[in-house]
Amino acid sequence: MIPKRFDYYSPTSLQEAIQLLHENTEAKVLAGGQSLLPMMKLRMFEPSALIDISRLTDLSYIRDEGEYLAIGSLTTHDVVEHDETIKDRLTLLYEAVYRLGDKQVRNLGTIGGSVCHADPAADLPTALLVADVSFVMEGKSGKRVVPARDFFLDFYTTALAHDEILTEIQVPYLPRRSGSAYIKHSLREADFAIANVGTIVTIEEDGKTCREARIGLGTVGTTPLRSSPAEQYLKGREFDETSIAEAAERSIEGVDPPSDVHGSGEYRLKMIKVITKRALRLASRRAGARGEIAR
Ligand SMILES: Cc1cc2nc3c(=O)[nH]c(=O)nc-3n(C[C@H](O)[C@H](O)[C@H](O)COP(=O)(O)OP(=O)(O)OC[C@H]3O[C@@H](n4cnc5c(N)ncnc54)[C@H](O)[C@@H]3O)c2cc1C
Repeated sequence: MIPKRFDYYSPTSLQEAIQLLHENTEAKVLAGGQSLLPMMKLRMFEPSALIDISRLTDLSYIRDEGEYLAIGSLTTHDVVEHDETIKDRLTLLYEAVYRLGDKQVRNLGTIGGSVCHADPAADLPTALLVADVSFVMEGKSGKRVVPARDFFLDFYTTALAHDEILTEIQVPYLPRRSGSAYIKHSLREADFAIANVGTIVTIEEDGKTCREARIGLGTVGTTPLRSSPAEQYLKGREFDETSIAEAAERSIEGVDPPSDVHGSGEYRLKMIKVITKRALRLASRRAGARGEIAR
């Protein structure tokens, strides 16, 4: 359980960190260390150097930018969990972090670290995919913004180039008459998900009809996925127990989750349907839907 030897750098500016990454092609960024250090101890990652960005405190913030909420990549899960705007207006994000690991993990782990790690069983990638966020990254060739649907490429792999650092996550506020919910199914409270689902629904003026439904699934493949069959089915239909149950059935269309020690693929499929139904009920009630929706 001892990592391979590595060099350690502690830059004091973003430009210095980018330069160090550029010069050290086998280096990795270190943020809160809650995923990287365990992986290094298991020798699953063996970087030649760590570029510790924890002194770049300018990257820790939550700012209202009018259309969206800007969250600095070094913002810890604990800070996200206790932000009132997030709790009130982006509830699924709050629900994705308040059971993420335990208090110690949330105190050290960062939102940027969690998305860059890109574990398909993690909570934030699924929630942020559903929230249609944009990721801002900076590297040697400048700054670029990548939408969430193009960011998660594979197991532990994102669109970040080697010398790029994720600096900000831009989370659009939900449209009027919207509600959101995130549900994780895990063995114990703070465990990684066996199945996780995030939803955002928007209803029409009539208080019943679905204008838009977004449904994201984690733990089903190498990246979090959006469930197009369920999203398309709900669009234009009234929210009630029948449509929610049918959408939950369709949420697993084309999905083939892996089996592992935490649960078989078959079990995951069943649990996705169960929690999709619960998340849709919650989100549609939060959006103000007036149909027959169970508690
Ligand atoms: C006991 C325990 C329980 C946990 N439970 C859960 C859980 O229930 N749900 C869950 O989702 N996660 C869980 N985790 C995982 C963990 O909380 C997150 O993955 C972690 O917070 C990642 O953030 P970090 O700042 O610690 O990143 P680090 O570990 O420092 O880095 C993770 C990866 O991201 C890269 N990176 C970090 N920041 C940047 C950046 N700004 N730009 C570019 N690359 C970057 C690093 O190079 C590394 O590859 C758990 C971890 C532990 C130890």
